Amino acid sequence: MHQRPYMTTLPARYSSFVPGAGTGTDFSEIIRLVGLDAMVRLQRELLRRFIKTVDQHDSRDRCFIATIESLADLACSCACKRPKKATMRGLNGTRSRSFCRFCGKPAGLKSFADDVSQVRGNDDNLRLSTKYCTDHQPQLPSGASNLAYRRAKRSVAQFDMELGRLNRQCANRGTPQAASGDPLVDRYFHQYLLSQTVQPADKGELRNQARLMVDSKLSDRKKQMLILQWDGLNQSEIAQKLSIKRQAVSKALKSLVACPKLLLLEG
Ligand SMILES: [Zn+2]
Ligand SMILES: [Zn+2]
Repeated sequence: MHQRPYMTTLPARYSSFVPGAGTGTDFSEIIRLVGLDAMVRLQRELLRRFIKTVDQHDSRDRCFIATIESLADLACSCACKRPKKATMRGLNGTRSRSFCRFCGKPAGLKSFADDVSQVRGNDDNLRLSTKYCTDHQPQLPSGASNLAYRRAKRSVAQFDMELGRLNRQCANRGTPQAASGDPLVDRYFHQYLLSQTVQPADKGELRNQARLMVDSKLSDRKKQMLILQWDGLNQSEIAQKLSIKRQAVSKALKSLVACPKLLLLEG
């Protein structure tokens, strides 16, 4: 929606009553800049001034007033659409509202809405949140509290930390970049991403991998063990290197057997 073509049919003095018209700035762009409320106030004031000073009550002026009023309506709907588009794109990757807060799945109610029976049967007690995917809704479709949500909420700091490391390493694969504060953990992330084709732009995939890391209880200690194992060290050597007991290494590695091979650097 651009007001310029219409404005060119009018004497130049009309431009001063349309915000931005003198500069050719889009109506909705101005709204984005000054805010909708300010824009509506400004337009109302300009319209008042126009009626007082210019309006000759002829058809051209009536048309002008009507057009400005409908422009304001259109700009209003324009402005309502824009913020949604902007947030879908995400202002920064890690906090994009289009993703579930706890993973890489889309947030919102779409998949719930697809299954009408689920929503309909539980209208009264179901509280759906647009912050989370269907897996991480605070409440299950039955209305019961969701364990996956409570778990993810407890571990949100760890999720953000792993995601940050994955993002940093993914952006520059040549050398260890995770900046974990520990050289072995950094090397784990380096090796972990070398075996994959995931790209920095694959935000959802990286978020899912951070989720998987947290849900697999892959602590930094276990990451140290895995990279040393990848180096070819046996359990005694790993224990010696980390100054811990061999049994602790054995127990930790055993706890990971159900983990995806990728996380174990065996992918
Ligand atoms: Zn426009
Ligand atoms: Zn989720």
